[in-house]
Amino acid sequence: MSEQVKRTELNDLGEFALIDHLTRDFPLQNKSSVKGIGDDAAVINNGNFQTVVSTDLLVEGIHFDMAYVPLKHLGYKAVVVNLSDIYAMNAQPKQITVSLALSSRFSVEALEELYAGVRQACDYYKVDLVGGDTTSSLTGLLISVTAIGQGEADKLSYRSGASVGDILCMTGDLGGAYLGLQILEREKQIFLEHPGVQPELKGHDYIIGRQLKPEARYDAIEQFAKAELVPTSMIDISDGLASEVMHICKASGVGAYVEEGHVMIKPEVFQTALDFRLDPITCALSGGEDYELLLTVKPEDIEKVRFMNDIAIIGEIVDAKDGATLHTKGGNIHPLQAQGWKHF
Ligand code: ADP
Ligand code: MG
Repeated sequence: MSEQVKRTELNDLGEFALIDHLTRDFPLQNKSSVKGIGDDAAVINNGNFQTVVSTDLLVEGIHFDMAYVPLKHLGYKAVVVNLSDIYAMNAQPKQITVSLALSSRFSVEALEELYAGVRQACDYYKVDLVGGDTTSSLTGLLISVTAIGQGEADKLSYRSGASVGDILCMTGDLGGAYLGLQILEREKQIFLEHPGVQPELKGHDYIIGRQLKPEARYDAIEQFAKAELVPTSMIDISDGLASEVMHICKASGVGAYVEEGHVMIKPEVFQTALDFRLDPITCALSGGEDYELLLTVKPEDIEKVRFMNDIAIIGEIVDAKDGATLHTKGGNIHPLQAQGWKHF
């Protein structure tokens, strides 16, 4: 009789539980490994400063669709999403490596476009491309970017630093990137059914730009440095506000409330959500890919953030037993829902 082999589906665990499961038996062996798995970036002690490292993998058909993502934008975005993780540690990105798996579908000219985007991001964020790897793929395009940055030990912001009473803040506005994707998907479907019809993208420049050409908030990090403010915790908003609030709560052993009325959503994002019959706050809480920053500051630093450009105070850190909640405009309190599995 053959022994039954145990099989657990990826869906049964979900992304975060899977990472925890696979990486649980890797105790750090080097003193220089200050922070391993579990934050926006790993932190390595280099004596005078800390090196901060983050990697992301983008897969055709999962993270992007060649039908509507221009290669130049893709190159730019692949870099930016990694830099965002470095800024989320309150550190400065300095170098990147870029690795590709390519199918023969791509021409040299197409890859030049991709690298034009990588170069534009390197110029804008002042980072150096210092290496990578290139291999072939049977199925499509894969891009992996690793970003390496620098920070000072006492100025890094981890997910785990929030305390009860800290003020919860966000940069910029949310929901746009998700709605940009909805518009691009809609126009793709129309095009597939009626190939002659031109896509109707006019009037949606901001929202589509948020999806195709996101920026990382280096300017927020600069403002913090100028104001001598070190966020007690910070994370970039890549998977929607709800998920990121819960990451901070879990890592810090606290709860938090978010005031629905204080979450920044631009009027055009709000209106587009309604046009799609979506609740705007749901787009902000669960949408993802906005690459804004979520941070907490000590209550005595509230005056510093109040006068900062493009930063909103959206809630407060509370006791763990009170959980992570949304205080709605109507006066109700709902538990924040983390987004489930997206990519499997
Ligand atoms: P982010 O959304 O900020 O990029 P992730 O949710 O992708 O962060 O990752 C959370 C943590 O898990 C990070 O510390 C990351 O380095 C780590 N991680 C993700 N996938 C793996 C893996 N396959 N093996 C080891 N560590 C991983
Ligand atoms: Mg992150």
